[in-house]
Amino acid sequence: MRDAKDRIEIDGSQGEGGGQILRSALTLSLVTGKPFRLHQIRARRIKPGLLRQHLTAVRAATTVGAAEVVGDELGSKDLIFTPGNVTHGDYTFAVGSAGSVTLVLQTVLWPLLLVPGKSTLRFEGGTHNPMAPPFEFIAEVFLPLLQRMGAKVEANLVRHGFYPAGGGCFTVTIEGGHPLRPLEVVERGGVVRRRARALLSHLPKSIGDRELRVVRNELGIDRDEIRVVDVDSVGPGNALLVWVESEHCTEVFAAFGERRISAEQVAARVVSEVKHYMSHDAPVGPHLADQLLIPLALVGNGTFRSHSLTEHTNTNMKILGRFLPVQFEVTADRRGSSRVDAKPA
Ligand code: ATP
Repeated sequence: MRDAKDRIEIDGSQGEGGGQILRSALTLSLVTGKPFRLHQIRARRIKPGLLRQHLTAVRAATTVGAAEVVGDELGSKDLIFTPGNVTHGDYTFAVGSAGSVTLVLQTVLWPLLLVPGKSTLRFEGGTHNPMAPPFEFIAEVFLPLLQRMGAKVEANLVRHGFYPAGGGCFTVTIEGGHPLRPLEVVERGGVVRRRARALLSHLPKSIGDRELRVVRNELGIDRDEIRVVDVDSVGPGNALLVWVESEHCTEVFAAFGERRISAEQVAARVVSEVKHYMSHDAPVGPHLADQLLIPLALVGNGTFRSHSLTEHTNTNMKILGRFLPVQFEVTADRRGSSRVDAKPA
């Protein structure tokens, strides 16, 4: 283990000031072996400190990386994390609530992809949560790009888990240690297919029909490409997903049913995201952009083009630069998008 004097001090209230700062720090700490102290954890959130989902990410990182940790409690605003060696293997991580487990996957994915050997992971909790990647985004958008880099990783959904009941599950298999090529996602190419699914659990089908009517009217997606899917989950839930498959990449947009929010309002949210994406020609949507920074940083090279970079993206660039000798160059292109290039610092 490294000395405390090498410890990286991170202010969790900077920029976006949310959970991603924690997850990126955990990932990069495991990969680089550098310890860190994070204070003011999630200071910009209404309920600051570690929630169950974040605590599960800390525990998952501690387990795969034989780390020493101080401050790993619910509500904690200060964490000291000292990594040991990352070991591949079979692991189960359960949030124990409907907290997002796709975000827990993000935390341990890279350390296990980089260490030689096979890992089999099981995640239990929320698979379809607001403000987090839905499972389909992970399996059909994010992982295919990593596979393009040479990563050997696959995910399978076992059961959907919605807020507030949770109870979802997915598995991930990783063959770690394969060399990774730089990623380049600069052109989208023509759109080859668009489709939509309204996922419903213990809710009337009419909700999905109403959502998809809006999606069809507003986006003009073919009738054959639109479907209500009844899924088996422990509690009620609704996710509306729209896929935009282009020649060189796929994007998935999502909105989630909520109490007191009409089916039409849920649909309007996803429609507005898809319309925004279709209004320009950059391949990488706003969520994917912040998530692609880690693969770019780890390879120390690579490029993507996105239309509007979020505060999540800007903050993540700063955090990654604290652990790795990488800098991100952002240039506005003539088509109104931003090009992000990772370069050695
Ligand atoms: P908090 O914001 O409460 O601290 P958090 O830990 O859940 O919460 P954030 O820091 O907000 O995390 O990070 C959320 C992550 O989920 C970001 O990487 C964001 O891009 C991603 N995300 C959110 N919504 C979607 C979506 N619809 N599709 C794909 N990714 C998403």
